[in-house]
Amino acid sequence: MAGSLTQNWDVVIAGGGPAGFFAAIRCAELNPKLSVLIIERASQTLGKVLISGGGRCNVTHACYDPAQLITHYPRGGTELRGAFSRFHPKDTVEWFEARGVKLKTEADGRMFPVTDDSNTIADCLREAARKAGVRVELRTSLLRVEKGSKGGFRLEVRNDAKNFILQTKKLLIATGSDRKTLDIVKSLGHTIIDPVPSLFTFNIKDKRIEGLSGVSVEHVTLRMDAITTRGALLITHWGMSGPAALRLSAWGARELFEKKYHARLTVNWLHDHSFDKALEILQRNKDWKENARRRVASAPAFSQIPIRLWRQLVDFAGEKNWGDVSKAELRKLAQELTAGEFEIQGKGQFKEEFVTCGGVSLKEVDFKTMQSRAVDDLFFAGEVLDIDGITGGFNFQSSWTTGWLAGNALGE
Ligand SMILES: Cc1cc2nc3c(=O)[nH]c(=O)nc-3n(C[C@H](O)[C@H](O)[C@H](O)COP(=O)(O)OP(=O)(O)OC[C@H]3O[C@@H](n4cnc5c(N)ncnc54)[C@H](O)[C@@H]3O)c2cc1C
Repeated sequence: MAGSLTQNWDVVIAGGGPAGFFAAIRCAELNPKLSVLIIERASQTLGKVLISGGGRCNVTHACYDPAQLITHYPRGGTELRGAFSRFHPKDTVEWFEARGVKLKTEADGRMFPVTDDSNTIADCLREAARKAGVRVELRTSLLRVEKGSKGGFRLEVRNDAKNFILQTKKLLIATGSDRKTLDIVKSLGHTIIDPVPSLFTFNIKDKRIEGLSGVSVEHVTLRMDAITTRGALLITHWGMSGPAALRLSAWGARELFEKKYHARLTVNWLHDHSFDKALEILQRNKDWKENARRRVASAPAFSQIPIRLWRQLVDFAGEKNWGDVSKAELRKLAQELTAGEFEIQGKGQFKEEFVTCGGVSLKEVDFKTMQSRAVDDLFFAGEVLDIDGITGGFNFQSSWTTGWLAGNALGE
């Protein structure tokens, strides 16, 4: 390959993921005279797109207000505010639709191709790149970058166990969370925020949730120190998952990393019922005549808690009849239901969507063009930046947006 590849390029894009493709296509469509090359280390492009969303690819989220959209990004929201006013989920929908791919919206706002097949998205991107004249080189890694003496860059790349040199006027780094490439970016003078995992499940071994794998509660509130998240909670073999837990893992990604994934978690199984409100309802259940001879375990006071979970949460008073429950026990029940304490003992992995927070410091990037403020003609897009979203299509959206903006500037 190396022999047949031209050495001089207008634009080289390192990384054939969604951000790199979006940038390449936008740039080449805008300015067909430019020579545009994507170098991709793997043997295929768009690897994460293919495995994303359980093979369905959650392309974006039906949230069309930039101010609302940025609330889904634990890191990068502020910087993305302006970027989203230039390219947001509606533009993503239109972009794919213009190329023959229709997206559908699920009840929770997540958007997928109507085919429910991530190949539809990958094929569309590859075809658009081909049509726009973008050259793609597989099994080709970026190893080193030097600023050229007369501008541009001298790139050392590796393919087929051989190293060779490429020259390019402009360079876009869209290599995702790859640590080795972050070292290259650091060597160019950029600050790198230490990458750590985001979006993971919690390992919790606790009698109250033992044997309940698969049980879910639709509206819970989770709290860890100053971080509060709401949503559905799913009990798993290893602990807790579901939107509320994943959100907490994203907002608390750095804190949890620092605590080596050991932390105290408070669960309000009654969404936002206060202790007093729960106590009042429990008292009513106790006072209700028909309940007097019913066991607490088999006569739940709250319909939103599945019976199997209820039994385990109220185990300490479960065998008593409602009529015999003491005031102190009622208070303990209210406490358990609105502020149950659990210990996070480790992290699992959320296989549907796994992202890293950290990367290139956002202060050093101009979000109108995605150009480096430290190095002329160097651009960034996608997860290589210190941006990450919660689950729901927000991570791809930041790749589409930053990729499109970079492509716009590269194509000028
Ligand atoms: C299992 C899984 C499921 C996911 N599902 C979803 C989802 O449904 N919705 C959503 O919004 N997000 C999802 N995500 C997150 C999403 O995939 C990422 O946020 C997104 O892919 C980031 O895009 P990117 O282009 O910045 O980086 P990447 O997709 O990581 O692409 C970077 C590319 O650069 C290449 N590369 C790295 N280093 C070099 C180098 N030195 N030289 C050349 N090439 C290099 C890599 O091989 C890779 O192909 C999922 C992630 C995972 C892991």
